[in-house]
Amino acid sequence: MPNYYRYECYNCGYEAVRYRNIRKCPQCGWVLERVGELRICYHGTNKKSADIIRRHGFKPLTYFGRHLEDALFMGGEYIFEVAFNAKNIPNNWQFRIEERVEPSLIVSHYQLLKHPLINNENLRAKVLSSNAIE
Ligand SMILES: [Zn+2]
Repeated sequence: MPNYYRYECYNCGYEAVRYRNIRKCPQCGWVLERVGELRICYHGTNKKSADIIRRHGFKPLTYFGRHLEDALFMGGEYIFEVAFNAKNIPNNWQFRIEERVEPSLIVSHYQLLKHPLINNENLRAKVLSSNAIE
């Protein structure tokens, strides 16, 4: 029984189910990605870097967090939610990408302005340190 794989082009949206490994999108020529389970990871930064990322994507060695609170605390209030294949995410609270991540993988980007009505910094510190243990 052959294995069939679902593929998707993150550039033009082409989708296909194929028996063989195929590399290039027949519509636009981009590299096709095997569709697996996806997860959202977070990158927080400042306004200047966010402007560059929106246009050019993420450079290799950029940090991502598995939790929003870590991206905010480590990076900044300009938040990117980015789709990753679950199998590529290390089992750690943060990780560095080895290759470019294109803007087409950005799920959402926003500035998170906080106006806290409750702000328990001691409890926040406990959450951040418990994330780091994973
Ligand atoms: Zn395509």
